[in-house]
Amino acid sequence: MRHIAVIGSGPAGYYTAEAAQKKWGGDVRVDVFDSLPVPYGLIRTGVAPDHQSIKAVSRRYEKTAFTDHVRFVGNVTIGSDVSITELQSLYDAVVLATGAPHDRTLSIEGADLAGVHGSAQFVGWYNGHPQFAGLDPDLSSETAVVIGMGNVALDIARILAKTTAEFEGSDIVLHALDALESSAICRIVILGRRGPHQIMMTPKELGELMHLERAAPRVDADDLPDGEEDALLEPGLRKSVAHLRSFAAIPESERADKTIEIEFDFFASPKAIIGEEGRVSGIEVERTKVEAGRAVGTGETYTIPCGIVLTAIGYRTAPIEGVPFDERAGRFANDEGRIMPGLYAVGWAKRGPSGTIGTNKPDGFGIVDLIEEDIASGALGNGGKKGREGFDALAAERGLDIVTFQDWKRIEDAENAAAREGSPREKFVDIDAMIAARGAD
Ligand code: NAP
Repeated sequence: MRHIAVIGSGPAGYYTAEAAQKKWGGDVRVDVFDSLPVPYGLIRTGVAPDHQSIKAVSRRYEKTAFTDHVRFVGNVTIGSDVSITELQSLYDAVVLATGAPHDRTLSIEGADLAGVHGSAQFVGWYNGHPQFAGLDPDLSSETAVVIGMGNVALDIARILAKTTAEFEGSDIVLHALDALESSAICRIVILGRRGPHQIMMTPKELGELMHLERAAPRVDADDLPDGEEDALLEPGLRKSVAHLRSFAAIPESERADKTIEIEFDFFASPKAIIGEEGRVSGIEVERTKVEAGRAVGTGETYTIPCGIVLTAIGYRTAPIEGVPFDERAGRFANDEGRIMPGLYAVGWAKRGPSGTIGTNKPDGFGIVDLIEEDIASGALGNGGKKGREGFDALAAERGLDIVTFQDWKRIEDAENAAAREGSPREKFVDIDAMIAARGAD
């Protein structure tokens, strides 16, 4: 019997569990840990609430969760409730699927002012992550600045621009829906330090901006390179740039009935965030040019007055004591997922915050192959570890209140039952409420 602990119940965690189950069937026991009492990581708290079709992948993870030898161990924080070393002594393999929950920091003056939020915070707020549900962002100014030209920046801009009616069918949490309904924001500036050919935004997500009820995207045609240069781009990026070209071609007459503008400001590098009485009141930006793919400052600066700045410049994995960490890359130090025999990383914790949900599938299956290799070479010893039995004894000794998958299903039923009309669920946004909702056994 092989015992595997997977830390993190997002896509990378559940694909790893699925792969282990498929490879070893009844000869493996997989425990999937999460510090929250609810599963699915970024599927629940990262994927935009109006992208329900992406969230539907959780049904596949549920199938894995319901197989006989995989179990969910929620409400347990590895690193504080139980250490990695303790887990290593109990399980043959420990797989870190902890994602990248921390914002990459913007190291400029004023980045610590009130009204400056990282995307993990802001996305967590509108998705009801218990850690960020109380963020209460100030949406009372006319202009919001979003830094970064990736899909997270697009998610944020779209969420800020949508009407309440456009959220029908989404599971945006009520506190965010209410706050957005009374938002005064009518100009959303997306800042990119490089140009249209260097964006990280994907075509489908960009295309959505053309169909917003009260908002229209704006691109300055002068920022776009000559059309024939697009031929050199890889096909996905070429499609994205085609969207930018169509945004630049929207006639003013079509904008007349739009009350919100989503403005793409290219060649614009944030220099400093300006504050008044401790709150953001503007952002100073330096014009850049792109040389050999890099943004180079031109010395020309300008200020955009704004009341909120949202950084969407990438994420970092949270270090765990005793696990080697690559500070520069912001993830665990690993070789193709192997940190050391018996300890592995998968998903964003392995490769950094890039790729789609689907990228985690080959990652999860690959890590199980690596574990098999290490078993075959004898690097993981001769087995005989206590696995979940040992963990349960430790948990009882420490008085840990474990939330099981069956508990989660009761929490989910309560969330579904509380859904407002047109929404699939009303999420609990605090841990005590989640735990209370699992009811009596
Ligand atoms: P991302 O795609 O890596 O984009 C980060 C952006 O931030 C880049 O434009 C980058 O510009 C910019 N940036 C980084 N440091 C900066 C700085 N100091 N100043 C100014 N700009 C800076 O990251 P992401 O948007 O967080 O997305 C993470 C991953 O999740 C991506 O793989 C994304 O596709 C995925 N995702 C997918 C979806 C979807 O499929 N619907 C939704 C959300 C997220 P440079 O290029 O110049 O560095």
